[in-house]
Amino acid sequence: MDVEPNITIGSRVWVEDSSVAWVDGEVLGIRDKEADVQTSKEKKVVVSLSRLHPVDVDIPEEGVDDMTRLSYLHEPGVLHNLATRFKLNNIYTYTGNILIAVNPFQRLTSLGETHLMEQYKGAEFGQLSPHVFAIADISYRAMIDDRKSNSILVSGESGAGKTETTKLIMQYLAFIGGHAFADGRTVEQQILESNPVLEAFGNAKTVRNNNSSRFGKFVEIQFDCHGRISGAAIRTYLLERSRVCQISDPERNYHCFYLLCSAPAEELEKYNLGDPKSFHYLNQSSCYELDDMNDAEQYLATRRAMDVVGISQEEQEAIFRVVAAILHLGNIDFAKGEDTDFSVIRDDKAKFHLEMTANLLMCEANALEDALCKRVMVTPEEVIRKSLDPMGATISRDGLAKTIYSRLFEWLVDKINNSIGQDSTSQYLIGVLDIYGFESFKTNSFEQFCINYTNEKLQQHFNQHVFKMEQEQYTKEGIDWSYVKFIDNQDILDLIEKKPGGIIALLDEACMFPRSTHETFCDKIYQSFKSHKRFIRPKLSRTEFIISHYAGEVQYQADQFLDKNKDYVVTEHQDLLTSSKCPFVMSLFPPIVVETAKTSKFSSLGARFKLQLQQLMDTLNSTEPHYIRCVKPNDDLKPLIFDNVNVMQQLRSSGVIEAIRIKCAGFPTHKTFHEFLVRFGILAHNKLEGRDEKEACKFILDKVGLTGFQMGETKIFLRAGKMAELDSQLTEV
Ligand code: ATP
Ligand code: MG
Repeated sequence: MDVEPNITIGSRVWVEDSSVAWVDGEVLGIRDKEADVQTSKEKKVVVSLSRLHPVDVDIPEEGVDDMTRLSYLHEPGVLHNLATRFKLNNIYTYTGNILIAVNPFQRLTSLGETHLMEQYKGAEFGQLSPHVFAIADISYRAMIDDRKSNSILVSGESGAGKTETTKLIMQYLAFIGGHAFADGRTVEQQILESNPVLEAFGNAKTVRNNNSSRFGKFVEIQFDCHGRISGAAIRTYLLERSRVCQISDPERNYHCFYLLCSAPAEELEKYNLGDPKSFHYLNQSSCYELDDMNDAEQYLATRRAMDVVGISQEEQEAIFRVVAAILHLGNIDFAKGEDTDFSVIRDDKAKFHLEMTANLLMCEANALEDALCKRVMVTPEEVIRKSLDPMGATISRDGLAKTIYSRLFEWLVDKINNSIGQDSTSQYLIGVLDIYGFESFKTNSFEQFCINYTNEKLQQHFNQHVFKMEQEQYTKEGIDWSYVKFIDNQDILDLIEKKPGGIIALLDEACMFPRSTHETFCDKIYQSFKSHKRFIRPKLSRTEFIISHYAGEVQYQADQFLDKNKDYVVTEHQDLLTSSKCPFVMSLFPPIVVETAKTSKFSSLGARFKLQLQQLMDTLNSTEPHYIRCVKPNDDLKPLIFDNVNVMQQLRSSGVIEAIRIKCAGFPTHKTFHEFLVRFGILAHNKLEGRDEKEACKFILDKVGLTGFQMGETKIFLRAGKMAELDSQLTEV
């Protein structure tokens, strides 16, 4: 977008500003390649001409509902338009067919959602104001009309509103594709009720969002030949496991733990639960209650939702028994045994929790103690029993808690899928993706690495799609587009996923060598990517590396990469749970078949995730995609505040700005002949008589001597900056 605009004295311009991203101002004077600008913040600044953008004086006060209607498609124009609309509670704006949704942090619909859905049903796209329902509606129509699967990809940072948006999409699809008058449990009801169940077990309060999804989700809604919902499949990605045993103030653990602690008295008694403050897995943070959530009510609501999705009473009982067991497990402390370094259960209190955990998991307390404190090593000569020190036993305990919880979550997803049922005869589906956005924190570990890898993949998909759409427009209008290029991020993807030689492959190799450490792993990648454009080794660092992602540089701390990548259950834990007398617990840990254990000795999270991601991309590639970019207007999670700098950053990393750049690389301004004449007809000095609209436009363009435009069938296509050139002609008339 670095095209030097046509700027003269008196022009209104946007100037970069550190506190509000862009501020408007007026050009007072121009010298060489610099301008003196008086900003509306009462400041005089000197700015290079190439860094100024013209203000669009033409747009209505309330903004435009599609960014492509802006005469100038640049960062400040886009930002200003969003801010203007947000102030008027218009949280949705299109950029072509991408929907940008700014989180209002307050309920805005007064008429009720059913009424709104009625309005959007079958309405022509663009006829009503932008809305999630409009995107859901065109996806549905496109599926019916073109007999093709569609998908809606919702993205944005934590707290931007992805999950709420996804729920609106699902609500709309259930409304339009539901079985009217059917009673009992319909497929669509089950699909909708799967949300509260998954949220209870997979969401938690974080600093960024009180109801943050700690997993990625792709819901595939299947339709029959009459366009009615006939089945669904939910796929989930990368549940955050560490949260089960480690939280920091002011965050919370997964909602289900607190819900269960607020369950009716007889249940609390059964599980020996009470105050959440008494559990180590919860009391590492001082946050127990949420303002907008009543845990007791939510517990009952979750149980009702579990009924709807087909989880039986016995199963529900077993699920919460396991949740309670994890809380007790976390309270088993260890101490050094007399005269040894080996660990023993610390005291009577810890012994009580050991008994409780064993009871709830229906296994022997002794066996549980052994599984936590001892390891069996098999060498060719003998079998050695080794005791762990207290630190080792604590790690073993937390490992067990994480394993049980993640298996429980997987079980829930499988159960919901089986219960809703898959329609194997379905030809078309609408997939809805609600997945974590790009992350860059102070410390970035393996989780951020996987999340950002996902975003690179999705970004490539997005770019290719936006590019294709632009091409289609040009082709339709008979315009030459051969010189429109876009930056591909394939080089970053190669760096991460190439086999052999990419970071994931090298990490797997490191995990397979018993003697590797994170330092040897880092040495290896420093060596391998010494001259890779996207890879940087920070000075003086031995365990950190930087990847230059499409959305910015991220510095990763590799200390825990090896541990986090290893995906196996300790044999002692596996044996313990396989021998549980509870059929439910046993089913979470089916016995490992010896054959597969031998052939696939090593399984890694990174490689498994890569495969899952590839399957997701294959599915997405077979659908017609639609994009919703969610934006978080402020970090205080409050209504009515629009933080320019913050929003700008998100627009950049969500690819919206890149999409605009792709447009700008071609002919970003499209005006119908008619629109063009309304604005520039005056330049013809009354010489347009007898010409049709297209000829009239051509006449004006010739007269002005403009270059960098193409005439389509119905529209004029202008290169970046050309609009400003024409506008400056207007001022001379
Ligand atoms: P995460 O990545 O952490 O899961 P998310 O993008 O899924 O974040 P949501 O949970 O959907 O974010 O939204 C965060 C909060 O913002 C919601 O709990 C709700 O309070 C508010 N919110 C989001 N979208 C809307 C909306 N359309 N109307 C009103 N409030 C909303
Ligand atoms: Mg979410």
